[in-house]
Amino acid sequence: MQENKDKFIEMVTASARVELPLSDFAPKHGLCVPATDVPGSKFPSIDYHNHLDAQEPSAVLKILDACNIERIVNITMQTGDAALQMHRKFKEAAPDRFDTIAWFDWSDLHEPAFWDRCVERLERCKDAGFCGIKIWKDLGLKLKDVSGEMLRVDDERLVPFFEKAGEIQMPVMFHIADPDAFFLPIDRVNERYEELAAHPDWGFYGSHFSKDELLEQRDSIFMRHPKTTFVCAHLAERSEDLAYVAGLLDANPNLFVDIGARTAELGRQPYTSRDFFLKYADRILFGTDLVPDVEMYRLHFRFLETRDEYFDYPSHASRQGRWQIYGIDLPDDVLKRVYRQNALKLLEP
Ligand SMILES: [Zn+2]
Repeated sequence: MQENKDKFIEMVTASARVELPLSDFAPKHGLCVPATDVPGSKFPSIDYHNHLDAQEPSAVLKILDACNIERIVNITMQTGDAALQMHRKFKEAAPDRFDTIAWFDWSDLHEPAFWDRCVERLERCKDAGFCGIKIWKDLGLKLKDVSGEMLRVDDERLVPFFEKAGEIQMPVMFHIADPDAFFLPIDRVNERYEELAAHPDWGFYGSHFSKDELLEQRDSIFMRHPKTTFVCAHLAERSEDLAYVAGLLDANPNLFVDIGARTAELGRQPYTSRDFFLKYADRILFGTDLVPDVEMYRLHFRFLETRDEYFDYPSHASRQGRWQIYGIDLPDDVLKRVYRQNALKLLEP
């Protein structure tokens, strides 16, 4: 008897000592807490941040219908004629359900008169029915001048572009920089190690401008163009620090933020997030930035609408970090604004 017991203990100890690769570690939590079924958003919603270039409109519509999503904004990554075609493809399929944000075209940055052309293109996008234009992080992290200098986000030559955007009521979306962890070394203390190991090209450690410098440059633009409406994607790239985002919103009434791809961050600080949503209910846009999918949307609704505890956040396949999230149980009047009313201010000014 004793011999069997000893053998058993020996076996268990030996197996526990086996090194388990982090990538294979997939613990199942043992909490017994309610899991609310939220099939669709409680009120009609608008996904203000998505990328649909690779999607078929009919397939997207089925998902929207299943989730009570009234409208979705495609931030096309095409430029020129291809962008126009993309816009038409979705508009023709369902004019009331799809909108398009244009992508800033840098393709001829080194050609003469580029900066004038930016302004002309912006006007053309407006005429074609686009609902905004997005400036991506290649500005500040990658794009160089003809002289070989890294372009600053607040490059003086963009001033006429931002002014024109205000004049013709074309919201400008910014996605400058990325989560803080993406600007740190990819090592054992980086809390997004697995994600960065899966996508090493997402890391910007050692970038020409630091993350703080990039945001500083971006933020100065909001002040300088008070008549232009700006949308800061991904909670202004500082969802780790909502006090910073709050300060930015306080200082700039011309600014909105979207929550695209940041449920993981928001859901691990539920008290801070809830306070933030209550205070800035008029300035926050629902957006996902994830491939349309019924389960993905339901996780968002669960986060925003319920008091559920410790559940998976919506994410791309490689996940954002090893944690779970908590619902923030937003009141109806806040949900209505975040889901739809705020986006309508931008889509139908
Ligand atoms: Zn995006």
